[in-house]
Amino acid sequence: MTGAPTHFNKTRIAPTPSGFLHVGNILSFAITAALARKHGAKILLRIDDLDRARVNREYLTDIFDTLRFLEIPWDEGPRDADDFETRFSQIHRMHLYNEALDQLAAGGFVFACTCSRKQMSEIGRCTCLDKQIPLNTPEASWRLHTDNARALQVKSYDGIIIRTQLPAEMENFVVRKKDGFPAYQLTSVIDDLFYGVDLIVRGEDLWASTLAQIQLAAVLYKQDFNDIVFYHHPLLLEADGKKLSKSAGSTSIRYLRQEGKNAEDVFMLISDLFSLPETACNWQKLAASILRKLS
Ligand SMILES: [Zn+2]
Repeated sequence: MTGAPTHFNKTRIAPTPSGFLHVGNILSFAITAALARKHGAKILLRIDDLDRARVNREYLTDIFDTLRFLEIPWDEGPRDADDFETRFSQIHRMHLYNEALDQLAAGGFVFACTCSRKQMSEIGRCTCLDKQIPLNTPEASWRLHTDNARALQVKSYDGIIIRTQLPAEMENFVVRKKDGFPAYQLTSVIDDLFYGVDLIVRGEDLWASTLAQIQLAAVLYKQDFNDIVFYHHPLLLEADGKKLSKSAGSTSIRYLRQEGKNAEDVFMLISDLFSLPETACNWQKLAASILRKLS
């Protein structure tokens, strides 16, 4: 064990405007901000908005309102919803995503899939691998020819290099959706490299996603992605042990504000949900307490 590096250039908070921010997002942002301040890293606000069916303006505005309400800082990225749409929307980087998709297609690294959601849930897997469906088939998604035996390396924050393989759930994961837009794993890799992120903080539910992105970056010859350090943190759970969901409106910051809660109340609530020994009144104290508990 060599310990964490002393300096990082940039980390990011990366909400998706497909729901109101909830206490689980705030936990993640607080840890990210604390690690950024500790290691001299800039915090980028990276908003993913290519899920066109679910993204809406109200959720986008909520991101800025909530970060300001809770005084969570960011150093780079959009200052408000208009600035986001003008300069930072993923729409402006479509050429980069399409370049990567073209590279995957030209290299024979993807195949077309026409499985319906129903088929997928009944059979449990895509059955298109050997069907030679043309990539330009309307309504077909593109899946990566994954190699689940390939050794993947994750640089973890505590200085350990974790060697593992792609989990079965990520076999032939989608890189282009049926609507023709690039999928999350691909845009996430491209965006983090585009912005020069070298520390990624995310929930441990995204471990499989991290491995998918590392394999995808390797296929795309994006060697720099291998230098990124990952910090996966435990999730906040509901009282019944279930994962918090965006649809569970009662944990959204917007709802809590409507109920008359102030920022301090929100941090106290998160302290309780995380069973912290001391009650935090701001993001700095919350993150410090969590990182102590996890160390
Ligand atoms: Zn399929």
